[in-house]
Amino acid sequence: MVVVMNPGAPQDQIEAVVARIESVGSQAFVSHGVLRTIIGIVGDTQRCYELNLPAMPGVSTILRVSAPYKLVSSQAHAERSVIHIGPPGHRIPIGPDTFTLIAGPAAVESAEQAHSAARLAAAAGARVLRGGAYKPRMFPLSFQGMGEDGLKILADVREATGLLILTEAMSPADVTLVASYADMLQIGAANMQNYPLLDSVAGTGKPVLLKRGMQATIEEWLMAAEYLTQRGNPHVVLCERGIRTFETATSSTLDISAIPLVQQLSHLPVIADPSQACGRRDLVVPLARAAIAAGADGLLINVHPDPENAVVDGQHSLAGSELRELASAVRQLPPLLGRRPAEPLS
Ligand code: PEP
Ligand code: MN
Repeated sequence: MVVVMNPGAPQDQIEAVVARIESVGSQAFVSHGVLRTIIGIVGDTQRCYELNLPAMPGVSTILRVSAPYKLVSSQAHAERSVIHIGPPGHRIPIGPDTFTLIAGPAAVESAEQAHSAARLAAAAGARVLRGGAYKPRMFPLSFQGMGEDGLKILADVREATGLLILTEAMSPADVTLVASYADMLQIGAANMQNYPLLDSVAGTGKPVLLKRGMQATIEEWLMAAEYLTQRGNPHVVLCERGIRTFETATSSTLDISAIPLVQQLSHLPVIADPSQACGRRDLVVPLARAAIAAGADGLLINVHPDPENAVVDGQHSLAGSELRELASAVRQLPPLLGRRPAEPLS
């Protein structure tokens, strides 16, 4: 971090800034130019963010040298991390070398629907079932999810199929309950910067799927992961699910470049959700292939036994031939990139 002083800032203002930097144990290196003085900071720059330096007299601007996220940064951890989900003896890795398909319905609608979707997901190569019991809906009268009854159905499906369960928590008040059923907790795009929710989810210690907010920059997304990690939960998998752009032909724009870029910036696994990104069944498989080719560590795919009659997100849920195409992409492409596909469930 570098503090740039106003042209001609007097010595007492410079000394006050230096004293404040040193008050938190960081070092200040003062360099006098012809017009301006700049002060380089070495040490715990995170604490320096809290010093309110921009508000001090004589300060013109603050320049950042290193990223504000530290623990999730690839500088903190040169090797890419593997996040394990599931109980001992039944753990599934997400990270480099392997490829993890997570698939299932947007929402749990009934026991029958969830069991059928789980069978389709497992047959397509999934080891983890996605399914929402608490759904973030734009319209207040839309189906909001089955709540705990939906979680119980997910637990039954896990028992019957061996699939692990990924499900979303939307409110801090529900986190303990959701975590008691889930193998992995989803933080949805709309909640990426819901800090009370991040606090509660971090407190469970369960692995987290952190979706990118639809208006979030990569840095904001990584700061949300940093927040979870600093609050004691480093088991974070990032999920690129499309961002808001000027284009309206798709529900959002899958940011393919974010996949390799975030893998350079951070050691955390990155998976892609082409279903939410495009919102159209016919584009899911091409985008899934693109995400695999870009190096994604896995995919999150909406699957439904009867998309036409799905209560939530039928328009981009796969079944039939499209699901078979997806399954063949997941079987064939990751090995070409040196990844081991998940072993089929026995
Ligand atoms: C979902 O995956 O169920 C969902 C609602 O997606 P997102 O949070 O990415 O919008
Ligand atoms: Mn949706």
